[in-house]
Amino acid sequence: MTAVNEIIAHMGDPTEADKALVNKAFVFSQKAHEGQLRKSGEPYFSHAAAIGLRLATMGMGPRTIAAGLLHDTVEDTTVTAQQLKEEFGDEIFFLVDGVTKLSSVRYYGRDRYNESLRKLFVATSQDIRVLIIKLVDRLHNMQTLEYVPKEKQLRIARETLEIYVPVAHRLGMGKIRKELEDLAFPYVYPKEYERVMTLMKQKAGKAEELLERERKNLQKKLVEAGMTHFQTSYRVKGLYSMYHKLMRKEWNIDQIYDMLAIRVVLDTVEDCYKALGVIHEFWRPLPGRMKDYIASPKPNGYQSIHTTVTTHSGIIMEIQIRTYKMHHESEYGVASHLIYKEKTQGGDGNASWFSNFAPSLFRPFSRHQQPPSQSDITKDRPDKEKIPIWINQIGEMYTAEKSSGQEFVDDMRKDFFMSRIFVFTPNGDVVDLPVGASPIDFAYAIHSEIGDHVAGAKVNKKLVQLDTELQNGDIVEIDTKESAHPTAKWLDQAKTSMARRHIRSALEHERENR
Ligand code: MN
Repeated sequence: MTAVNEIIAHMGDPTEADKALVNKAFVFSQKAHEGQLRKSGEPYFSHAAAIGLRLATMGMGPRTIAAGLLHDTVEDTTVTAQQLKEEFGDEIFFLVDGVTKLSSVRYYGRDRYNESLRKLFVATSQDIRVLIIKLVDRLHNMQTLEYVPKEKQLRIARETLEIYVPVAHRLGMGKIRKELEDLAFPYVYPKEYERVMTLMKQKAGKAEELLERERKNLQKKLVEAGMTHFQTSYRVKGLYSMYHKLMRKEWNIDQIYDMLAIRVVLDTVEDCYKALGVIHEFWRPLPGRMKDYIASPKPNGYQSIHTTVTTHSGIIMEIQIRTYKMHHESEYGVASHLIYKEKTQGGDGNASWFSNFAPSLFRPFSRHQQPPSQSDITKDRPDKEKIPIWINQIGEMYTAEKSSGQEFVDDMRKDFFMSRIFVFTPNGDVVDLPVGASPIDFAYAIHSEIGDHVAGAKVNKKLVQLDTELQNGDIVEIDTKESAHPTAKWLDQAKTSMARRHIRSALEHERENR
């Protein structure tokens, strides 16, 4: 099991106070989880320790590491919120509490609500560090998924692909995203996983050997060109990412040019362009394959130059050229900007990452997910006002450079919870309604036939009045009767114009037929 010294060794330049804090959290959590076991048979605390270590290797600060070590204490042990607050202060408690609250945002298996769930997930987090801890928590749970009962594996793996992976992607956290994808892939799409594996083995059986040889060739060439400060490495494309690309290329693996890639990491942007010249002189580039994401970064802030070349031994591969800073950002995304900023003494997490990250957070997905179409959002809701305006505005709103990262999350949360609530059907479908909505609005949001015959409603299994104001996370059940009909009173009780329009037309209809 991870030792506390290992965690501390991975922290960037910790003060004595930083080390003491991490040590205290380690000992406290170990004691709290004493006697508990993971499904794997390991002590429960090994999970918390693994998360602390991963957060440290990502460069997160001492309070985030401490919160990671403590993240399951309030939910799963006898430790109370009050105790945690007294021992570790408000900030660490706030982080732990945030991670605990996130457990209630769950994927219920309905694809059409995934976008809402992602937003709910981000908005519930309150602090970007809560999201990072939660992603690392999920990563470790995925790494140990084989020990979880079969019937739960699929739900957890799908939730990972539908909620966690897109969030990691939007936060620019490429490394953790790839790991989560490849861990979930075989559980969610076992047949496709086998197919991709087989194809890749045929095509790239000796990939590592080959890449290593070409990497050395390139290294030599760059040195000959007078370049000294640089690093080279290689990567084989992730399986899940390959799967998506294969589907787009009709499963023709020869059409995929970035399965194998060599990375060149240098000091400056100038060096990057110089290296590109050297590479194109050495290996023949494929025409039209050069992409300059340094000059034009991807929506999530990713920067790099990509080019596809044919090596002298006839291998087609991608070369990715970037600075150290860009490399770090592409691996850790938003987390890379928080690094070392969180000291136990002074300094806040003021984040310059924000201007890169914020506008991309709600852009349509570029790679794996289909963007939610307007028709998804407006389904059954023809009126314009039903589209949450903030969904459209949020991209522009947060480009102001002055705002700090935390302000962004705060504002988003406020907007999110001030304008919309999310309630569930008994089946776990998510229904998105304006704040102040009643069971009548809910019924009409499901279907006008249900709305027109509401006889009663239950919220969280309790009978309620039809004018009850629904709250975030409520489970709402509607009883219908053929004999039940809209009344004038309903007009006051309904908030959505769709419900009001249906009620009005039903009332008119009744008047005419009287
Ligand atoms: Mn956990």
